[in-house]
Amino acid sequence: MSKKIVILGAGYAGISVAKELEKYYARNQDIEIKLIEKNSYHTLLTELHEVAGGRVLPNAVQVDLNRIFKSNIVDVIQDEIVSIDFDSQKLFSNNHEYTYDYLVLSTGSRPCCFNLPGVNEYAYQLWSHKEAIILRNHIYNCFQKASTITDREERKKLLTFVIAGGGFTGVELAGELGEWKNKLCKQFSINVEEVNIYLVEALPNILNILDKNLAKKCEARLKKIGINVLTECGIKSVDKDSIYLSNEEKIEGTLIWTAGIQGNPFIGEMDIKCDRRFRVEVNDYMQSIQYKNVFCAGDTISHICDGKPLPQVVETALQTGSCVAKNIINIINGKEIRPFNPNYHGVLVSVGFSYAVAKVMGVKCSGIVASALKHMVNIHYLYLIGKLSLVMDYIKHQFLQKRYCTELNVSLPVEAEGIKELGF
Ligand SMILES: Cc1cc2nc3c(=O)[nH]c(=O)nc-3n(C[C@H](O)[C@H](O)[C@H](O)COP(=O)(O)OP(=O)(O)OC[C@H]3O[C@@H](n4cnc5c(N)ncnc54)[C@H](O)[C@@H]3O)c2cc1C
Repeated sequence: MSKKIVILGAGYAGISVAKELEKYYARNQDIEIKLIEKNSYHTLLTELHEVAGGRVLPNAVQVDLNRIFKSNIVDVIQDEIVSIDFDSQKLFSNNHEYTYDYLVLSTGSRPCCFNLPGVNEYAYQLWSHKEAIILRNHIYNCFQKASTITDREERKKLLTFVIAGGGFTGVELAGELGEWKNKLCKQFSINVEEVNIYLVEALPNILNILDKNLAKKCEARLKKIGINVLTECGIKSVDKDSIYLSNEEKIEGTLIWTAGIQGNPFIGEMDIKCDRRFRVEVNDYMQSIQYKNVFCAGDTISHICDGKPLPQVVETALQTGSCVAKNIINIINGKEIRPFNPNYHGVLVSVGFSYAVAKVMGVKCSGIVASALKHMVNIHYLYLIGKLSLVMDYIKHQFLQKRYCTELNVSLPVEAEGIKELGF
Protein backbone atom coordinates (compact mmCIF):
# COMPACT_ATOMS: atom_id res chain seq x y z
CA MET A 1 0.00 0.00 0.00
CA SER A 2 1.23 3.48 -0.90
CA LYS A 3 2.94 5.35 1.96
CA LYS A 4 2.80 9.11 2.46
CA ILE A 5 5.84 10.93 3.82
CA VAL A 6 5.49 14.63 4.65
CA ILE A 7 8.53 16.80 5.39
CA LEU A 8 7.67 20.12 7.03
CA GLY A 9 10.23 22.87 6.36
CA ALA A 10 12.77 23.10 3.54
CA GLY A 11 15.80 24.33 5.44
CA TYR A 12 19.10 22.42 5.55
CA ALA A 13 17.48 19.54 7.43
CA GLY A 14 14.32 19.23 5.33
CA ILE A 15 16.32 19.36 2.09
CA SER A 16 18.66 16.67 3.42
CA VAL A 17 15.74 14.35 4.24
CA ALA A 18 14.04 14.98 0.90
CA LYS A 19 17.22 14.50 -1.15
CA GLU A 20 17.99 11.18 0.53
CA LEU A 21 14.42 9.94 -0.02
CA GLU A 22 14.44 11.21 -3.62
CA LYS A 23 17.59 9.20 -4.33
CA TYR A 24 16.22 6.01 -2.77
CA TYR A 25 12.70 6.18 -4.18
CA ALA A 26 13.67 7.28 -7.70
CA ARG A 27 11.80 4.35 -9.23
CA ASN A 28 9.22 3.58 -6.57
CA GLN A 29 5.70 4.72 -7.48
CA ASP A 30 4.27 3.54 -4.19
CA ILE A 31 5.72 6.30 -2.08
CA GLU A 32 4.37 9.85 -1.95
CA ILE A 33 6.86 12.44 -0.70
CA LYS A 34 5.65 15.95 0.04
CA LEU A 35 7.95 18.79 1.10
CA ILE A 36 5.91 21.64 2.56
CA GLU A 37 7.64 25.01 2.93
CA LYS A 38 6.11 28.41 3.56
CA ASN A 39 8.52 30.11 1.15
CA SER A 40 9.07 29.24 -2.50
CA TYR A 41 12.79 29.07 -1.80
CA HIS A 42 15.39 27.48 0.49
CA THR A 43 17.18 30.14 2.56
CA LEU A 44 20.95 29.84 2.98
CA LEU A 45 20.60 30.94 6.58
CA THR A 46 24.33 30.78 7.29
CA GLU A 47 24.91 33.62 4.80
CA LEU A 48 22.17 35.96 6.05
CA HIS A 49 24.71 38.33 7.62
CA GLU A 50 26.06 39.04 4.13
CA VAL A 51 22.64 40.37 3.11
CA ALA A 52 22.17 42.32 6.35
CA GLY A 53 25.67 43.75 5.95
CA GLY A 54 24.94 44.91 2.41
CA ARG A 55 27.68 42.71 0.89
CA VAL A 56 25.51 40.57 -1.40
CA LEU A 57 22.12 41.08 -3.00
CA PRO A 58 19.16 39.59 -1.11
CA ASN A 59 18.57 36.93 -3.77
CA ALA A 60 22.08 35.55 -3.19
CA VAL A 61 20.81 33.56 -0.21
CA GLN A 62 17.59 32.29 -1.82
CA VAL A 63 17.52 29.02 -3.77
CA ASP A 64 14.31 28.34 -5.67
CA LEU A 65 13.06 24.92 -4.50
CA ASN A 66 12.19 23.93 -8.07
CA ARG A 67 15.88 24.14 -8.91
CA ILE A 68 16.67 21.64 -6.14
CA PHE A 69 13.86 19.18 -6.91
CA LYS A 70 13.54 18.94 -10.66
CA SER A 71 12.00 15.46 -10.86
CA ASN A 72 8.47 14.84 -9.65
CA ILE A 73 9.54 12.35 -6.96
CA VAL A 74 9.43 15.05 -4.29
CA ASP A 75 6.28 17.13 -4.48
CA VAL A 76 7.27 20.64 -3.36
CA ILE A 77 4.34 22.54 -1.88
CA GLN A 78 4.46 26.19 -0.90
CA ASP A 79 2.17 26.47 2.10
CA GLU A 80 2.38 27.47 5.75
CA ILE A 81 1.22 24.86 8.23
CA VAL A 82 -0.69 26.32 11.14
CA SER A 83 -1.59 23.19 13.09
CA ILE A 84 -0.94 19.46 13.29
CA ASP A 85 -3.18 16.69 14.59
CA PHE A 86 -0.80 13.87 15.46
CA ASP A 87 -3.62 11.41 16.27
CA SER A 88 -5.41 11.68 12.93
CA GLN A 89 -2.02 12.20 11.19
CA LYS A 90 -2.98 15.47 9.51
CA LEU A 91 -1.37 18.86 8.95
CA PHE A 92 -3.46 21.96 8.34
CA SER A 93 -2.72 25.22 6.60
CA ASN A 94 -5.30 27.99 6.28
CA ASN A 95 -6.67 26.45 3.06
CA HIS A 96 -5.55 22.83 2.87
CA GLU A 97 -5.06 19.69 4.87
CA TYR A 98 -2.42 17.05 4.29
CA THR A 99 -2.33 13.48 5.60
CA TYR A 100 0.78 11.49 6.38
CA ASP A 101 2.00 8.06 7.41
CA TYR A 102 5.39 9.46 8.38
CA LEU A 103 6.03 13.07 9.31
CA VAL A 104 9.39 14.87 9.53
CA LEU A 105 9.43 18.09 11.54
CA SER A 106 12.23 20.33 10.28
CA THR A 107 10.88 23.79 11.01
CA GLY A 108 14.13 25.23 12.36
CA SER A 109 14.62 27.73 15.16
CA ARG A 110 14.06 31.34 16.14
CA PRO A 111 15.96 33.81 18.29
CA CYS A 112 15.20 33.72 22.02
CA CYS A 113 14.95 37.02 23.90
CA PHE A 114 14.82 35.48 27.43
CA ASN A 115 11.93 37.85 28.25
CA LEU A 116 14.36 40.75 28.66
CA PRO A 117 12.34 43.96 28.81
CA GLY A 118 11.98 45.63 25.42
CA VAL A 119 14.06 43.17 23.36
CA ASN A 120 11.11 41.64 21.56
CA GLU A 121 9.66 45.08 20.80
CA TYR A 122 12.73 47.13 19.98
CA ALA A 123 15.55 44.87 18.81
CA TYR A 124 16.27 43.88 15.23
CA GLN A 125 16.78 40.18 14.58
CA LEU A 126 18.59 38.16 11.95
CA TRP A 127 16.96 34.78 11.49
CA SER A 128 15.08 34.98 8.19
CA HIS A 129 15.51 36.41 4.72
CA LYS A 130 13.01 39.18 5.45
CA GLU A 131 14.67 40.11 8.72
CA ALA A 132 18.01 40.37 6.90
CA ILE A 133 16.55 42.81 4.37
CA ILE A 134 14.80 44.85 7.06
CA LEU A 135 18.04 45.12 9.02
CA ARG A 136 20.07 46.01 5.94
CA ASN A 137 17.56 48.71 4.97
CA HIS A 138 17.55 50.10 8.50
CA ILE A 139 21.35 50.34 8.65
CA TYR A 140 21.48 52.02 5.24
CA ASN A 141 18.71 54.47 6.23
CA CYS A 142 20.56 55.34 9.47
CA PHE A 143 23.67 56.38 7.54
CA GLN A 144 21.65 58.23 4.93
CA LYS A 145 19.65 60.10 7.57
CA ALA A 146 22.74 60.88 9.67
CA SER A 147 24.31 62.55 6.65
CA THR A 148 21.44 65.05 6.57
CA ILE A 149 21.51 65.90 10.29
CA THR A 150 23.79 68.33 12.08
CA ASP A 151 22.64 67.69 15.68
CA ARG A 152 25.59 65.75 17.18
CA GLU A 153 23.57 63.65 19.63
CA GLU A 154 21.05 62.62 17.01
CA ARG A 155 23.83 61.76 14.54
CA LYS A 156 25.61 59.69 17.18
CA LYS A 157 22.44 57.74 17.93
CA LEU A 158 21.88 56.99 14.26
CA LEU A 159 25.46 55.81 13.83
CA THR A 160 25.57 53.54 16.90
CA PHE A 161 24.84 49.81 16.61
CA VAL A 162 24.91 47.26 19.41
CA ILE A 163 25.03 43.59 18.42
CA ALA A 164 24.01 41.42 21.36
CA GLY A 165 25.60 37.96 21.35
CA GLY A 166 29.13 36.88 20.55
CA GLY A 167 28.20 33.59 18.87
CA PHE A 168 28.39 32.76 15.13
CA THR A 169 25.64 35.12 14.09
CA GLY A 170 26.77 38.11 16.15
CA VAL A 171 30.43 37.81 15.16
CA GLU A 172 29.70 37.31 11.47
CA LEU A 173 27.30 40.25 11.42
CA ALA A 174 29.79 42.46 13.27
CA GLY A 175 32.41 41.54 10.65
CA GLU A 176 30.12 42.56 7.80
CA LEU A 177 29.04 45.78 9.46
CA GLY A 178 32.65 46.67 10.27
CA GLU A 179 33.46 46.51 6.56
CA TRP A 180 30.23 48.00 5.18
CA LYS A 181 30.48 51.06 7.44
CA ASN A 182 33.59 52.22 5.55
CA LYS A 183 31.71 52.14 2.24
CA LEU A 184 28.64 53.84 3.72
CA CYS A 185 30.77 56.57 5.30
CA LYS A 186 32.40 57.23 1.95
CA GLN A 187 29.06 57.22 0.13
CA PHE A 188 27.41 59.63 2.59
CA SER A 189 30.51 61.70 3.43
CA ILE A 190 30.53 60.73 7.11
CA ASN A 191 33.68 60.59 9.21
CA VAL A 192 34.20 56.91 10.03
CA GLU A 193 35.21 57.89 13.60
CA GLU A 194 31.61 58.89 14.21
CA VAL A 195 30.39 55.29 13.82
CA ASN A 196 30.21 53.08 16.93
CA ILE A 197 29.64 49.35 16.61
CA TYR A 198 29.58 47.20 19.75
CA LEU A 199 29.58 43.44 20.04
CA VAL A 200 28.30 42.60 23.51
CA GLU A 201 28.79 39.15 25.05
CA ALA A 202 27.73 38.11 28.57
CA LEU A 203 30.41 35.39 28.89
CA PRO A 204 34.15 36.07 29.34
CA ASN A 205 34.89 35.18 25.69
CA ILE A 206 33.20 35.43 22.32
CA LEU A 207 32.69 32.29 20.18
CA ASN A 208 32.62 29.84 23.05
CA ILE A 209 32.15 26.85 20.75
CA LEU A 210 35.51 27.61 19.16
CA ASP A 211 39.06 26.88 20.15
CA LYS A 212 40.28 29.72 22.46
CA ASN A 213 43.15 30.76 20.16
CA LEU A 214 40.88 31.05 17.15
CA ALA A 215 38.31 32.97 19.15
CA LYS A 216 41.05 35.41 20.21
CA LYS A 217 42.11 35.81 16.57
CA CYS A 218 38.52 36.61 15.65
CA GLU A 219 38.32 39.16 18.44
CA ALA A 220 41.56 40.80 17.28
CA ARG A 221 40.25 41.00 13.72
CA LEU A 222 36.98 42.54 14.89
CA LYS A 223 38.87 45.16 16.87
CA LYS A 224 41.08 45.88 13.85
CA ILE A 225 38.04 46.72 11.71
CA GLY A 226 36.67 49.03 14.38
CA ILE A 227 34.31 46.87 16.46
CA ASN A 228 34.20 47.46 20.24
CA VAL A 229 34.06 44.01 21.78
CA LEU A 230 32.54 44.05 25.28
CA THR A 231 32.75 40.73 27.14
CA GLU A 232 31.26 39.82 30.54
CA CYS A 233 28.61 42.37 29.73
CA GLY A 234 24.92 41.59 29.31
CA ILE A 235 21.96 43.49 27.98
CA LYS A 236 19.56 44.34 30.81
CA SER A 237 16.82 46.00 28.82
CA VAL A 238 16.10 48.20 25.85
CA ASP A 239 13.59 50.90 25.07
CA LYS A 240 12.87 52.92 21.93
CA ASP A 241 16.13 54.89 22.08
CA SER A 242 18.43 53.29 24.63
CA ILE A 243 20.12 50.01 25.43
CA TYR A 244 20.88 49.37 29.12
CA LEU A 245 23.91 47.18 29.86
CA SER A 246 24.72 45.10 32.94
CA ASN A 247 27.72 47.38 33.65
CA GLU A 248 25.17 50.17 34.22
CA GLU A 249 26.14 51.93 31.00
CA LYS A 250 23.48 53.23 28.64
CA ILE A 251 24.02 53.30 24.89
CA GLU A 252 21.71 55.14 22.51
CA GLY A 253 21.40 53.41 19.15
CA THR A 254 20.12 50.34 17.35
CA LEU A 255 20.05 46.97 19.12
CA ILE A 256 20.51 43.85 17.00
CA TRP A 257 19.65 40.71 18.96
CA THR A 258 21.57 37.50 18.15
CA ALA A 259 22.11 36.27 21.70
CA GLY A 260 19.81 33.29 22.11
CA ILE A 261 18.16 30.53 20.15
CA GLN A 262 15.07 28.41 20.67
CA GLY A 263 12.99 26.04 18.60
CA ASN A 264 10.23 27.33 16.35
CA PRO A 265 7.49 28.63 18.72
CA PHE A 266 4.92 27.16 16.28
CA ILE A 267 6.05 23.67 17.33
CA GLY A 268 5.71 24.67 20.99
CA GLU A 269 2.00 25.22 20.40
CA MET A 270 1.48 21.71 19.03
CA ASP A 271 0.57 18.66 21.10
CA ILE A 272 4.05 17.14 21.06
CA LYS A 273 6.51 16.79 23.91
CA CYS A 274 9.06 19.63 23.75
CA ASP A 275 11.70 21.05 26.07
CA ARG A 276 11.16 24.54 27.53
CA ARG A 277 12.68 26.06 24.39
CA PHE A 278 10.13 24.55 21.95
CA ARG A 279 12.48 21.81 20.74
CA VAL A 280 10.97 18.37 20.26
CA GLU A 281 12.24 15.65 22.55
CA VAL A 282 13.47 12.74 20.46
CA ASN A 283 15.03 9.35 21.10
CA ASP A 284 18.36 8.14 19.67
CA TYR A 285 16.63 7.42 16.34
CA MET A 286 15.44 11.04 16.01
CA GLN A 287 11.85 9.89 16.60
CA SER A 288 9.52 11.92 18.78
CA ILE A 289 9.39 10.17 22.16
CA GLN A 290 5.59 10.41 21.89
CA TYR A 291 4.75 9.49 18.27
CA LYS A 292 6.83 6.78 16.58
CA ASN A 293 5.87 7.92 13.06
CA VAL A 294 7.03 11.50 13.72
CA PHE A 295 10.73 12.21 13.19
CA CYS A 296 12.69 15.42 13.70
CA ALA A 297 15.74 16.88 11.99
CA GLY A 298 17.92 19.95 12.49
CA ASP A 299 17.30 22.80 14.91
CA THR A 300 13.89 21.31 15.85
CA ILE A 301 15.58 18.61 17.93
CA SER A 302 16.16 18.49 21.67
CA HIS A 303 18.48 15.60 22.40
CA ILE A 304 21.51 14.81 24.51
CA CYS A 305 24.15 12.97 22.54
CA ASP A 306 27.48 11.89 24.10
CA GLY A 307 26.58 13.91 27.19
CA LYS A 308 25.99 17.16 25.31
CA PRO A 309 22.90 18.71 23.68
CA LEU A 310 23.01 18.45 19.88
CA PRO A 311 24.26 21.82 18.60
CA GLN A 312 21.96 23.86 16.37
CA VAL A 313 24.29 24.00 13.38
CA VAL A 314 24.19 23.00 9.73
CA GLU A 315 26.10 19.74 10.22
CA THR A 316 23.48 18.59 12.74
CA ALA A 317 20.74 19.51 10.25
CA LEU A 318 22.35 17.61 7.36
CA GLN A 319 23.32 14.54 9.38
CA THR A 320 20.07 14.18 11.34
CA GLY A 321 18.24 14.68 8.04
CA SER A 322 20.11 11.80 6.47
CA CYS A 323 19.57 9.60 9.55
CA VAL A 324 15.82 10.31 9.57
CA ALA A 325 15.43 9.50 5.86
CA LYS A 326 17.30 6.22 6.28
CA ASN A 327 15.21 5.27 9.31
CA ILE A 328 11.93 5.95 7.49
CA ILE A 329 13.15 3.83 4.56
CA ASN A 330 14.13 1.04 6.97
CA ILE A 331 10.76 1.08 8.72
CA ILE A 332 8.93 0.91 5.37
CA ASN A 333 11.23 -1.99 4.34
CA GLY A 334 10.63 -3.76 7.66
CA LYS A 335 14.27 -3.36 8.69
CA GLU A 336 15.85 -2.22 11.93
CA ILE A 337 16.35 1.50 12.45
CA ARG A 338 19.71 2.97 13.46
CA PRO A 339 20.61 5.52 16.15
CA PHE A 340 21.98 8.90 15.14
CA ASN A 341 25.75 8.86 15.14
CA PRO A 342 27.13 12.39 14.68
CA ASN A 343 30.37 13.04 12.85
CA TYR A 344 31.23 16.73 13.06
CA HIS A 345 33.94 18.06 10.77
CA GLY A 346 34.50 21.46 12.30
CA VAL A 347 33.62 25.09 12.57
CA LEU A 348 34.09 28.04 10.21
CA VAL A 349 33.39 31.65 11.15
CA SER A 350 33.82 34.57 8.77
CA VAL A 351 34.64 38.14 9.72
CA GLY A 352 33.86 40.12 6.59
CA PHE A 353 34.67 39.23 2.99
CA SER A 354 38.24 38.01 3.16
CA TYR A 355 38.87 36.87 6.75
CA ALA A 356 37.66 33.78 8.58
CA VAL A 357 38.82 31.34 11.21
CA ALA A 358 38.38 27.61 10.88
CA LYS A 359 38.98 24.36 12.66
CA VAL A 360 38.16 21.61 10.23
CA MET A 361 39.03 17.96 10.86
CA GLY A 362 41.44 19.04 13.58
CA VAL A 363 43.29 21.52 11.34
CA LYS A 364 43.20 25.17 12.37
CA CYS A 365 43.61 28.09 10.02
CA SER A 366 42.70 31.75 9.76
CA GLY A 367 42.67 34.65 7.32
CA ILE A 368 42.13 34.32 3.62
CA VAL A 369 42.80 30.56 3.64
CA ALA A 370 39.93 29.96 6.07
CA SER A 371 37.78 32.35 4.07
CA ALA A 372 38.49 30.35 0.89
CA LEU A 373 37.64 27.16 2.80
CA LYS A 374 34.29 28.63 3.80
CA HIS A 375 33.50 29.41 0.16
CA MET A 376 34.48 25.84 -0.76
CA VAL A 377 32.15 24.41 1.88
CA ASN A 378 29.30 26.57 0.56
CA ILE A 379 30.07 25.55 -3.02
CA HIS A 380 30.17 21.87 -2.05
CA TYR A 381 26.76 22.14 -0.38
CA LEU A 382 25.23 23.94 -3.38
CA TYR A 383 26.67 21.36 -5.76
CA LEU A 384 25.14 18.55 -3.71
CA ILE A 385 21.67 20.08 -3.73
CA GLY A 386 21.57 21.70 -7.17
CA LYS A 387 24.67 20.84 -9.19
CA LEU A 388 26.62 23.33 -11.33
CA SER A 389 23.93 25.90 -11.93
CA LEU A 390 23.73 26.77 -8.21
CA VAL A 391 27.52 26.87 -7.99
CA MET A 392 27.66 29.31 -10.90
CA ASP A 393 25.08 31.52 -9.19
CA TYR A 394 27.14 31.50 -5.99
CA ILE A 395 30.28 32.53 -7.85
CA LYS A 396 28.34 35.32 -9.58
CA HIS A 397 26.85 36.65 -6.33
CA GLN A 398 30.04 36.38 -4.30
CA PHE A 399 32.75 37.36 -6.76
CA LEU A 400 31.42 38.80 -10.00
CA GLN A 401 28.66 41.15 -8.96
CA LYS A 402 29.32 44.57 -7.48
CA ARG A 403 29.88 44.14 -3.77
CA TYR A 404 28.14 46.28 -1.11
CA CYS A 405 24.80 47.83 -1.80
CA THR A 406 24.77 51.53 -2.56
CA GLU A 407 21.01 51.80 -2.95
CA LEU A 408 18.04 49.97 -1.50
CA ASN A 409 17.01 47.89 -4.47
CA VAL A 410 14.74 45.60 -2.44
CA SER A 411 12.27 46.97 0.03
CA LEU A 412 9.70 45.06 2.00
CA PRO A 413 6.27 45.93 3.24
CA VAL A 414 6.76 46.99 6.84
CA GLU A 415 4.24 44.49 8.12
CA ALA A 416 5.82 41.54 6.24
CA GLU A 417 5.27 38.40 8.29
CA GLY A 418 4.54 40.45 11.39
CA ILE A 419 8.12 41.70 11.45
CA LYS A 420 8.24 45.26 12.62
CA GLU A 421 10.28 48.04 11.13
CA LEU A 422 11.69 49.96 14.04
CA GLY A 423 13.72 53.03 13.85
CA PHE A 424 14.25 56.57 14.70
C1 LIG B 1 22.86 34.50 10.53
C2 LIG B 1 23.12 33.03 10.85
C3 LIG B 1 24.40 32.52 10.67
C4 LIG B 1 24.63 31.17 10.94
N1 LIG B 1 25.89 30.69 10.71
C5 LIG B 1 26.11 29.38 10.85
C6 LIG B 1 27.38 28.83 10.50
O1 LIG B 1 28.29 29.56 10.08
N2 LIG B 1 27.56 27.48 10.63
C7 LIG B 1 26.56 26.66 11.07
O2 LIG B 1 26.77 25.44 11.14
N3 LIG B 1 25.35 27.14 11.42
C8 LIG B 1 25.10 28.48 11.32
N4 LIG B 1 23.86 28.96 11.64
C9 LIG B 1 22.82 28.03 12.14
C10 LIG B 1 22.19 27.25 10.98
O3 LIG B 1 21.76 28.15 9.99
C11 LIG B 1 21.02 26.40 11.47
O4 LIG B 1 21.51 25.46 12.41
C12 LIG B 1 20.34 25.66 10.31
O5 LIG B 1 19.73 26.58 9.44
C13 LIG B 1 19.28 24.67 10.82
O6 LIG B 1 18.65 24.06 9.72
P1 LIG B 1 17.12 23.62 9.82
O7 LIG B 1 16.79 22.97 8.53
O8 LIG B 1 16.87 22.91 11.08
O9 LIG B 1 16.30 25.00 9.94
P2 LIG B 1 16.14 26.17 8.88
O10 LIG B 1 17.29 26.24 7.98
O11 LIG B 1 15.81 27.38 9.70
O12 LIG B 1 14.85 25.76 8.04
C14 LIG B 1 13.56 25.70 8.59
C15 LIG B 1 12.56 25.86 7.44
O13 LIG B 1 11.24 25.59 7.92
C16 LIG B 1 10.34 26.52 7.32
N5 LIG B 1 9.15 26.60 8.17
C17 LIG B 1 9.12 26.94 9.48
N6 LIG B 1 7.85 26.87 9.95
C18 LIG B 1 7.08 26.48 8.92
C19 LIG B 1 5.68 26.23 8.78
N7 LIG B 1 4.83 26.38 9.82
N8 LIG B 1 5.18 25.86 7.58
C20 LIG B 1 6.02 25.72 6.51
N9 LIG B 1 7.36 25.94 6.58
C21 LIG B 1 7.89 26.31 7.77
C22 LIG B 1 11.15 27.81 7.28
O14 LIG B 1 10.63 28.74 6.34
C23 LIG B 1 12.54 27.29 6.90
O15 LIG B 1 12.72 27.26 5.51
C24 LIG B 1 23.58 30.32 11.40
C25 LIG B 1 22.30 30.84 11.58
C26 LIG B 1 22.07 32.19 11.30
C27 LIG B 1 20.67 32.74 11.45
